[in-house]
Amino acid sequence: MGDISPHFSLSEFGLPEAKAARHGCKPADYPPEWIESRLAPLAKALEVIRAEFGGKPVRVISGYRPLDYNRALGSEDTSQHVQGRAADFQIDGVSPGLIYRRVLELHRLGRIEIGGIGVYDEFNHIDVRGGALATWDERTK
Ligand SMILES: [Zn+2]
Repeated sequence: MGDISPHFSLSEFGLPEAKAARHGCKPADYPPEWIESRLAPLAKALEVIRAEFGGKPVRVISGYRPLDYNRALGSEDTSQHVQGRAADFQIDGVSPGLIYRRVLELHRLGRIEIGGIGVYDEFNHIDVRGGALATWDERTK
């Protein structure tokens, strides 16, 4: 049971101590003031994806990133992760390429509300920014 949605919890979207320390940063909780407006719609989109793949667990590998941590990763200041509107995730046994195609289809059918979807070799990114859908493919193989 999650505390944000049926299968997602607030703690999954913060920056844990171990990850922060690797880059000389401090851990951070997900900002409480953004839970309703930003994290709830993000978790809702992740629930749609989870259901699409038969209820397999969706593992959030990066959620909210404080600016210093985001910079340490080499990511741009405009990253949706800094705004608390993005999640990078994996589903065991499902390729990021397949997830990307299915999410684009869900969006086309109006079954998921997202603002961005990206695909990388080992994970996918989604975010709930406004405006036209942003898509990108950063796979190297
Ligand atoms: Zn991302």
